[in-house]
Amino acid sequence: MSYAEKLFVDYSEFMVYGILVFTILSMTVLYIIFRKTEEYKRFKSLRFYNVIWKWNWMSKKRIVSLWCYCPECGSELTCDDESCRSSNVLANKITYFTCQKCGDVEKSRITGGDRKYVLKIVKLEIIKRVNENSYEDKVVNNNG
Ligand SMILES: [Zn+2]
Repeated sequence: MSYAEKLFVDYSEFMVYGILVFTILSMTVLYIIFRKTEEYKRFKSLRFYNVIWKWNWMSKKRIVSLWCYCPECGSELTCDDESCRSSNVLANKITYFTCQKCGDVEKSRITGGDRKYVLKIVKLEIIKRVNENSYEDKVVNNNG
């Protein structure tokens, strides 16, 4: 084997390893980026208005099966938004969340609208936290 041939063989071997290393590195980088963008999917519960909210993700902007659960026993809460139909005054529109398992105890009340309104503000809060990367459990009271 001439020197030139040997050099060519070494060089192509180097190229093969180079391509291999490059491929592994770029796949790792892509995986890290993917993990980072998909991180919000692990954020599936939040303590908000003194109760636990749980949901599933369809996409980054789409939350499904959102509902609230008792912070004491974990049971699904029942919701009463009758006052919203009988009043036009926002301050009188109250949605109550009670736990039947705890003996029909009121666990939360949200002023301003019915259950659809409540689900909407909870969804907005979840998306806001995803956008701000603040997933930690914070207790947010009705009063502020
Ligand atoms: Zn309970």
